[in-house]
Amino acid sequence: MNSLMLNTDGVQIPQLGFGVWQVPAEGAEEAVATALRAGYRHIDTASAYQNEEGVGAAVRACGVPREKVFVTTKLWNGDHDRAERAFDESLARLGLDYVDLYLIHWPVPEQDRYVQAWRSLEKIYRDGRARAIGVSNFTVANLTRLMDETDITPSINQIELHPYLQQREMRAFHEANGILTEAWSPLGQGRGLLDDPALAVLAEKHCRTPAQIVLRWHLQLGNVVIPKSVTPSRIKENVSVFDFILDGEDMAAIGAMSRHQRFGPDPETFNLR
Ligand code: NAD
Repeated sequence: MNSLMLNTDGVQIPQLGFGVWQVPAEGAEEAVATALRAGYRHIDTASAYQNEEGVGAAVRACGVPREKVFVTTKLWNGDHDRAERAFDESLARLGLDYVDLYLIHWPVPEQDRYVQAWRSLEKIYRDGRARAIGVSNFTVANLTRLMDETDITPSINQIELHPYLQQREMRAFHEANGILTEAWSPLGQGRGLLDDPALAVLAEKHCRTPAQIVLRWHLQLGNVVIPKSVTPSRIKENVSVFDFILDGEDMAAIGAMSRHQRFGPDPETFNLR
């Protein structure tokens, strides 16, 4: 499993992880156990997903040493003014002593408390309870403000990113500032994107599935990528993407699929608490 270096001294993140949004609480332990057996070493959850207990149980029971599994969770929108307590609650649900990465889930512009929340994440990081800290769904303006007003640059920004929403401006900004780009809904939530004829051509050329082609594109762009599935065969399929290479023409063909289409909410207007 390939890893990328975070801007936090010495911390590496496995480039491909397992996302568990919409995995029901009662199925989370089994899905994560299946993923760990298939070779995933990175799990992406959030307090809002209401499945941290199952994720933690699988990580604790899997037999892989804790330090070999990278666990991310996230601070929910209504908790920006009580981040340390919300973090402790997540840790208790996970049944872990620390997480590898703690993210602010959304900036929530109407509420305007993400700078305050970030100061709490800085404290959690300094205390060693999160090995790295970052954000999710932050715009260039949100990131610029954090960097101007606080001490630590986020290590990662987890944003919606797939061939229909390529986020070129965000990726360039991240790269210029030492922030990794992490792609959520990397397969476009399985809603139409994987049926695109341009992907079918590449799938046939490489004897792979459209999902594998898209995941390989993410890896070659340098994104951290966290596909979700609860189907064991797809869980395995999605991690089997380290033994082939897309050439320049293939990458350009996927580049040409860009159509600025979101499947999830727009961070500029998402204010749910
Ligand atoms: P995704 O793009 O990973 O798509 C998942 C869906 O695609 C599955 O439910 C299934 O229907 C289909 N699928 C998966 N593998 C397939 C395969 N091999 N072949 C065919 N179909 C396949 O969507 P997602 O779950 O929205 O995103 C992945 C992860 O990103 C989430 O689980 C979560 O961890 C994270 N996420 C974060 C945010 C955020 O705000 N930070 C938002 C959404 C998702």
